[in-house]
Amino acid sequence: MDRDQIREHLRFAAELGITGVSRDGAWRTRENGVGSDPVRFSRNAAEALAAVRADIGDCTRCKLHGLGRKQIVFGVGNPDADLMFVGEAPGGDEDIQGIPFVGRAGQLLTKIIEAIDLRRDDVYIANVIKCRPPQNRNPEQDEVETCEPFLFQQIDIIKPKVIVALGKFAAQALLRTLDPISRLRGRVYDYRGAKLIPTFHPAYLLRNPSSKREVWEDMKLVRKLLNSQL
Ligand code: URA
Repeated sequence: MDRDQIREHLRFAAELGITGVSRDGAWRTRENGVGSDPVRFSRNAAEALAAVRADIGDCTRCKLHGLGRKQIVFGVGNPDADLMFVGEAPGGDEDIQGIPFVGRAGQLLTKIIEAIDLRRDDVYIANVIKCRPPQNRNPEQDEVETCEPFLFQQIDIIKPKVIVALGKFAAQALLRTLDPISRLRGRVYDYRGAKLIPTFHPAYLLRNPSSKREVWEDMKLVRKLLNSQL
């Protein structure tokens, strides 16, 4: 279409009473839905997650990109999972492999998942922040604020029935509280359309094996919620 044809087209549209064609930015970018609103224009959850991953790109939004992270650890698993696990941040093994929970704590998480008759591939696993903090220090407030919208997008796409927040940091960040994990666990919270269950972090369980009993109680509750009509 040349300029005259476009002008004629717009004049005709205006005669028909169609407004917003020339000025509305969303209209201009709409023919390539991906790029303007990739998630909304995706056909399924897998595509929508891929669009979020593409949007993150080789992220430099917070200072962690310059503090030694090797790669972004986006998330792994079933895009249509009923159950989602959310941890704190990638550690060293995860940073190398680009997959959450693959180190020792991850192997314990896999066992926990299998204990309720699921496989890792059945669930979705992600972290509050997607880059490894240096020396595995706790994520800082600005890093969480920059990164958590991507986790929220993942949750909204996957629409799990149940979210398990692994450990104090994930539970506090998601529930916007400073309450200790000992107070947070043992209860079910409504969260972005899901039921959220805080439990101990597998890394904590490696240091405190006696707390496995409480985690088993939490996982039985998870199983019950997954089996119920939520
Ligand atoms: N700990 C976390 O919180 N997340 C990981 O991915 C690995 C260890």
